[in-house]
Amino acid sequence: MTLDRARSLDAADPLAFARDRFSLPDGLAYLDGNSLGALPRATPAHIADVVERQWGGDLITSWNQHSWIDWPQQVAAKLAPIVGADSSELLIADSTSVCLFKLLVAGLQAQTGRRVILTETGNFPTDNYVMQGIAGLLPGAELRIVARGDLIDAIDDDTAVVSLTHVDYRSGERLDMAAVDRAAHAAGALTVWDLSHSAGALSLDLHSDGCDLAVGCGYKYLNGGPGAPAWLYVAERLQARLTSPISGWMGHADPFAFAGDYRPADGIRKFLTGTPSILALAALDCGLDTFAGVDMAAAESKAKALTGFFVEVIENCCGIDLTSQHVRSRHGSQIVVPHSHGYAVMQALIARGVIGDFRAPDLMRFGFSPLYNRFEDAWSAAVILADLLETGSWDDPRFHARRAVT
Ligand SMILES: *Cc1c(COP(=O)(O)O)cnc(C)c1O
Repeated sequence: MTLDRARSLDAADPLAFARDRFSLPDGLAYLDGNSLGALPRATPAHIADVVERQWGGDLITSWNQHSWIDWPQQVAAKLAPIVGADSSELLIADSTSVCLFKLLVAGLQAQTGRRVILTETGNFPTDNYVMQGIAGLLPGAELRIVARGDLIDAIDDDTAVVSLTHVDYRSGERLDMAAVDRAAHAAGALTVWDLSHSAGALSLDLHSDGCDLAVGCGYKYLNGGPGAPAWLYVAERLQARLTSPISGWMGHADPFAFAGDYRPADGIRKFLTGTPSILALAALDCGLDTFAGVDMAAAESKAKALTGFFVEVIENCCGIDLTSQHVRSRHGSQIVVPHSHGYAVMQALIARGVIGDFRAPDLMRFGFSPLYNRFEDAWSAAVILADLLETGSWDDPRFHARRAVT
């Protein structure tokens, strides 16, 4: 009965057309697009073309002839409708961690007289590691880490920047971006959002939420490939005030003048540092093309429907109570199922063709990409999980051996 419902929901899905844009193995429920997005069908041929014809045939002339030099901005322009920003506010560069470093330091240094970076304990570890590094590096800078519930009250006259991840990588809880931005601005602080688990899954409007600065990952819902470059956003109104702390030649006003002194480019380009990875940009370009014609409000509704359906089937088949994850309006596009042997159960799921992942200490994580996941994927994942739990077949030595990446 639930399988029939899953199939009729798939048949009525207005975004069903997008699944054909991906190359996914048959018979697999891939529920880890929040960790590594699936391979777009167009990527292999495009990469081959960039390698063979552009790099192989046109060699260095490609920097001009194929405008490689402009790709960090040209590829970023495809992200503009996905996150609700202008293309002049976006750039593809580096990794999320490095982009975050750049924007945090730039924000901190623009806030004369304020020295505190404020974040929360549950933030994604790399974000807090980067903040710890900055606090150790910049004389006077201080990192204040508070519990999520105390965040708004902790914003004060000392706060230079508030830096948070919009959707929690563990629980999937989604913070109220507009409310945090309002509170921060009322106290004179800037905000730096990490949108790694939001961009490509939820409807974002960085302008109307009042977001100042943001970063995000290219290899999750944006399907840019393993280790894809990240993206950064600097609101137009702040660009003149901010300076990149890693002043490399690609962010220089005139890199090929080879001048003796650094002079930042106008606008967003000043946040570039070194030569961009053209092959990686080519893959991310194809990842972003999978969003062509996709209305992000429809993507968010589908994410909501998929995760809601998954919760319902899990509760019915497995008897696991996921009540706390029922508040869909405050949720990203993932569901976590706690289990004391979550690692082994997830390995057993993978062996049965359901790919999710595990986050210590006890969470099985299932991510739903609105572009390629089907309600039938949610159904089969829940039914296979129920079978594994009922039979106990997950409890096998081969599923307990920890690998480096969980
Ligand atoms: C995936 C992820 C990152 C990734 O950082 P990289 O430096 O690109 O490896 C950063 N922050 C959050 C919240 C993430 O989910």
